[in-house]
Amino acid sequence: MPLLSLKNLSKRFDKTQAVADVSLDVERGEFFGLLGPSGCGKTTTLRMIAGLETPDSGSIEFDGRDITNLPAERRGFGMVFQNYALFPHLNVFENVAFGLRARHKPNPEIRERVKGALELVQLPGYEKRRVDELSGGQQQRVAIARAIAIEPALLLFDEPLSNLDVTLREETRGELRELVNRLGLTAVYVTHDQEEAFALCDRISVMVGGRILQTGLPRDLYEHPAQLLVGQFLGRNNLIRAIRLSAGKSELAEFQTLEGGHTIRIAVGDKNLVPLNQACILAIRPEHILITKLDDQLENAVPATVREINFAGATSSIKLDANGLTLEALALEAAGLSVGDHCIAVLPPERISLLRNE
Ligand code: ADP
Ligand code: MG
Repeated sequence: MPLLSLKNLSKRFDKTQAVADVSLDVERGEFFGLLGPSGCGKTTTLRMIAGLETPDSGSIEFDGRDITNLPAERRGFGMVFQNYALFPHLNVFENVAFGLRARHKPNPEIRERVKGALELVQLPGYEKRRVDELSGGQQQRVAIARAIAIEPALLLFDEPLSNLDVTLREETRGELRELVNRLGLTAVYVTHDQEEAFALCDRISVMVGGRILQTGLPRDLYEHPAQLLVGQFLGRNNLIRAIRLSAGKSELAEFQTLEGGHTIRIAVGDKNLVPLNQACILAIRPEHILITKLDDQLENAVPATVREINFAGATSSIKLDANGLTLEALALEAAGLSVGDHCIAVLPPERISLLRNE
C-alpha cells in the first residue's frame, strides 16, 4: 500500500485550473519528485498535500486514512519552502523549535530535538545565532532542521534550493538526499529543474498545465518520454515527424520520415503503436545517434552531411543534414569529422521513442 495517495485532485482559482485530475502514489521511504515548468500547478499540489489548500474535488489518503479534510497541523508533515519562511525576529533555536512548541512538547525534549536537528543539517551550536546573520545556505538548513525536528511522517519540499547559487545548490542537494535517506523519511520534492529532480528523486511525475503527463524512473522518462510535451521538457531531443508504414520485422515497426523520406524501424511494445499511415513523432536523444563513416548494414543507417560542429568541452554537438532531415548528434570526440563530410548517422531502434502528439 502506498504511503501517500492522491486521487483525482483538482483545484481552480477563479478562471485558472491550477491542478487538473492529478493522481499519484508515493511509496514509503521514497523520494518522489514533482517536476514541471513554472505555473504548472506544483506548489498548489504540494499545498493540498500539506493541508494548506483545499481541493475542489478528489481525495488524499495517507497511511490508509482519508486526510482530505484533516487540518494541516494534524497531518504532521514537515514543509520546506523556497524562501525559507523563517521568522527573522527569532533566533535559530526558536525557529527550529517552532513546530515542537506548537505541539506542546516539554522544554527538555525541545532542546534535545533542536540540538539533534541542527547537528543533522551540520549547524551544531548555532542555537543562539540570529537568522538574519546567516547565509542563504545556512538559512535553508535551519528551515530543513525545523521541518525534520518534528519527526515528520512526510517531508514536503517546494523548490528549496532555487535561491542558492549553483555550487551550494549541488552540495546541499547531495546532503539533503543523504539526510532523508539516513532518517528513512518519505519526501515529495517539487522543482522546475530537471537536473535536480534527476539527481535527487527515485521517481518523478512530470507535470504540465495542471496535469501529470508521465510518472516513472528518471531514466525511463528521459529515454522513453511517452508524449511530445515530456520529450520537449526533458532536455534535448531530435523530434522527427514520421508516418507508420507497416509492422516490418517481428519486433520492429516501420516508419517513414516526412523530412528526408527515410525508412526508420523502431522497437515498440504494442501499447505504444499508432495506426498505419498515421503521423507521429519519433524522438531520439543526440547522445544516442552514432556517427560512422562506414555503411556496415546497421539498422536505421541514414546517409548524412555534416553541417556544423560545435565544440562544447567534453562533447561536441554535430548538426547533420540527411536529405532535408536535420539531426543533432553528440559525440565525445568529433574524431576526424569536418563540416561538409559525408557520413552515416545510425539511429539504434531501441533508442527511438514514439511520441503521441498531444
Ligand atoms: P507552480 O508551483 O508549478 O509554479 P502554482 O501551483 O503556484 O504553480 O500555480 C498554478 C497556477 O495557479 C498558476 O497559473 C498560478 O498563477 C495560479 N495560482 C496559484 N495560486 C493561486 C492563488 N492563490 N490565487 C490565484 N491563482 C493562483
Ligand atoms: Mg511553485
